[in-house]
Amino acid sequence: MQMYKFTEDQEMLRKAVREFVEAEIAPHAQEWDEEDRCPVELFPKMGELGITGIFVPEQYGGAGLGYTERAIVLEEISRYSGGLGIAMMTHHMGAYVINTFGTAEQKQKYLPELAAGTKIGGLSVTEPAGGSDFMGQKSTGELKDGKWVLNGRKCFITNSHVASTDVWTVRTGTDDKGRPVLSTFIIEKGTPGHGPGRKENKLGLRGSVTGDIICSDVTLEPSQMLGKEGAGSKIAMGAIGELGRSGMAAICVGILRGCVEESVKFANERIVYGKPISKLQAIQLMIADNRVDYEAANLLLYSAMRLKDAAQPCTTEVSIAKYFASEAAARAAKRTMDLMGGYGVINEYPVGRFLRDALTSIPSGATSVIQQLIIAGDTLRG
Ligand SMILES: Cc1cc2nc3c(=O)[nH]c(=O)nc-3n(C[C@H](O)[C@H](O)[C@H](O)COP(=O)(O)OP(=O)(O)OC[C@H]3O[C@@H](n4cnc5c(N)ncnc54)[C@H](O)[C@@H]3O)c2cc1C
Repeated sequence: MQMYKFTEDQEMLRKAVREFVEAEIAPHAQEWDEEDRCPVELFPKMGELGITGIFVPEQYGGAGLGYTERAIVLEEISRYSGGLGIAMMTHHMGAYVINTFGTAEQKQKYLPELAAGTKIGGLSVTEPAGGSDFMGQKSTGELKDGKWVLNGRKCFITNSHVASTDVWTVRTGTDDKGRPVLSTFIIEKGTPGHGPGRKENKLGLRGSVTGDIICSDVTLEPSQMLGKEGAGSKIAMGAIGELGRSGMAAICVGILRGCVEESVKFANERIVYGKPISKLQAIQLMIADNRVDYEAANLLLYSAMRLKDAAQPCTTEVSIAKYFASEAAARAAKRTMDLMGGYGVINEYPVGRFLRDALTSIPSGATSVIQQLIIAGDTLRG
């Protein structure tokens, strides 16, 4: 099953990750969901397999692979646990911004432990005044006596309570047209004034922690600035746009594969009228629709990742993949519940969790409306 053709090495990676996921993730995914717990203890194990540092260069202890490989890893994890999928994908965003925009010293300082999974990363952009209003961020960074002093509150932040390396965007001034200037900083866990606030009780993706992070007079050396002063919007949008949204698309492709596999298994096992329901044509139509949604999302995601690996612009392609995959995953999960009759709403089966995870994926990394606006803008420009 799968129309997109991967290289032999990519298939080998998928096989290795799948074996790990089936042994270490699949048996516990439901328990993490019920307990609403992120299994942080698995990160060093995933580090040994190269998952935590999948695209981090080998010189910093990573696997040195590409964004297609990263999507494969997220898809495989999310086939069983979308929650752990988003925890990993956000960890990747934290590593990505340091790898892409960091100085040699910053890379040497942070990437080896992030790649090893002994430290967990995060990216804090969204604020209570609205995630869609990216430039409306109110958190501030002020230069006082040669040090940066950060104040503000971020919300809906994945890994908020478990990350050791947090990356913040804050407003550090205004330009000559009065527009906000954003800059980015790396903040280490334990820095005075920095810490988690409220933890959200989410509908889905519950194998991850989501919550507030607060900065109250956090004082940083200039060496903690990531990229140049004023580069914050480029850094954060680059990470959210291409890494965040493609990561969410990969998570949803994993959920879609779960829907295909669970619907086939159930339809073959459930006997009604003395025969498996897979013999009923109405059930076959549902399985066909699950397969089409999965294949289409898969093709969109991996075509976009081929562009990303070739260092081609892919913002719109990633938005198309994220928009389609997250909406399709919600459709497919609901369809699979319908196919299962009463069993579809019994929590012993994972499909109810798939629906909650798919719905929770829709706003993560910007809502479907925002993806539509990006796609429409690109289409109208021609
Ligand atoms: C599980 C989860 C994990 C997350 N992890 C992170 C993270 O790690 N880091 C991080 O920084 N953020 C994270 N987020 C935040 C996420 O990026 C935001 O939730 C998202 O950008 C939407 O922002 P908002 O929730 O404030 O909604 P709003 O921006 O308040 O949007 C409200 C409504 O207005 C609509 N809307 C907004 N603008 C327009 C427009 N121009 N035209 C028409 N309609 C519009 C939206 O589509 C939506 O329906 C996470 C969110 C979730 C749910």
